[in-house]
Amino acid sequence: MDGRACPCGLGDDYESCCGRLHAGEPAPTAESLMRSRYSAFAVGDAGYLLRTWHPSGRPPELTLDPDLRWTRLAVLETRDGGLFDATGTVQFRAVYVEQGQRGVHAETSRFIRQDGHWTYLGPADLPGADRDTLVYSVALDA
Ligand SMILES: [Zn+2]
Repeated sequence: MDGRACPCGLGDDYESCCGRLHAGEPAPTAESLMRSRYSAFAVGDAGYLLRTWHPSGRPPELTLDPDLRWTRLAVLETRDGGLFDATGTVQFRAVYVEQGQRGVHAETSRFIRQDGHWTYLGPADLPGADRDTLVYSVALDA
């Protein structure tokens, strides 16, 4: 994966961006965890997604859809989730292509930091947040 641009779109190559977090480095902020989770979807790292999922919402297993290709991430708004926060939310839109059809997954995600590690709590309770089921239905139906 030498020199490959990171899927999260920050402009760095994968190895020096989300790849470091996938390799075990803790995410410093909620947004960096969110970006690294998007990148994990893009590179197919289900183990990382489970590791960074808060136990309260974590599915027992996660099977990523190999036909679903993530193509772009846009972080729209970040609240808290900084170096000195214990919680945070990140609103984002992620674009994917499945069987030639373009789709958008929009979510406001909640994050919590425990023992210095950010974890993904789940989508905030907002209208439209149930679009989340689109992405995770494979695992939750199993
Ligand atoms: Zn990245």
